[in-house]
Amino acid sequence: MKQAIGIDLGGTTIKYALVSEAGDIRFEGKLPSRANESAACVLAQLRQAAECVLSLARAKQMESDIVGIGLGTPGIIDATGRIVLGGAENIVGWERIDVVTPMETYTGLPVRMGNDANMMGLGEMQYGAGRNCTDIVFLTIGTGIGGAIIIGGKLFSGYANRGAELGHTPLIANGERCNCGATGCLEHYASTSALVRHFLAKAKPLGLFVNDFVDGELIVRLYREGHPLAVQCMNEHFYYLRRGIAGFVNVFSPQRVVIGGGICEAGDFYLEELRKVVAANVIRDCAVNTQIVRAELGNRAGLIGAASQLF
Ligand SMILES: [Zn+2]
Repeated sequence: MKQAIGIDLGGTTIKYALVSEAGDIRFEGKLPSRANESAACVLAQLRQAAECVLSLARAKQMESDIVGIGLGTPGIIDATGRIVLGGAENIVGWERIDVVTPMETYTGLPVRMGNDANMMGLGEMQYGAGRNCTDIVFLTIGTGIGGAIIIGGKLFSGYANRGAELGHTPLIANGERCNCGATGCLEHYASTSALVRHFLAKAKPLGLFVNDFVDGELIVRLYREGHPLAVQCMNEHFYYLRRGIAGFVNVFSPQRVVIGGGICEAGDFYLEELRKVVAANVIRDCAVNTQIVRAELGNRAGLIGAASQLF
């Protein structure tokens, strides 16, 4: 069976695996990405990730089955799919850089690169919560909100690969400034970071949680215990996210909206709250074919999706 190397580059770690055409992970590992040093360091780590898989495959006499390397990276990628143009704030110097050519030269294998959120969406469509679908919208809720749009079984990234920035959908008129430079973006109001920011802004003046480490997990726990501040902030979180999702349903009318990211592991209530989107905010006829479901591949979605580009 065909195999491909899947690599998922993040701000802290590089995850890598050998992935079969059936979507199974043969073996996997991770390396520090050294993203705070230089682009050259990151490139060297990527080469090493590929080499780790290749040497293990050699040992298991599986090397001849490997058809190429799929790589997911933060940032915007040019129309040739070889150059990261920029937009990856968590990796030093990761702009206007040819990532693919040195990888291909080093390994002798074809390399297919894509944006990390797009790769996650692709993985979920091929092997996860979007199986048997041709049209999905994928959202990952975390520090930011990443997304992928798949139409007719193909990733839609806009002309010359410059679009599909679902997290930067303007949501709030006269809203606060987002990291992207615009104001009122969905990401700035509905990410897990936004949830924590809103919670702390309300808690601190009351002298609450002043010395505590507050993250999404804690707020979800407090919400389930009925803590009024957490209930208020989670309800606001759902309110913003539902309105964002409603927009995507009205525009794309997907078969599934797949929700990923750590916070959606919180429990069934999270998805149930989001499903209220259908009743509250969408045009009914746009939503008749749409299910809102939880992602299934967890933090492996990116490398599985990246590898799937080779099959
Ligand atoms: Zn933005």
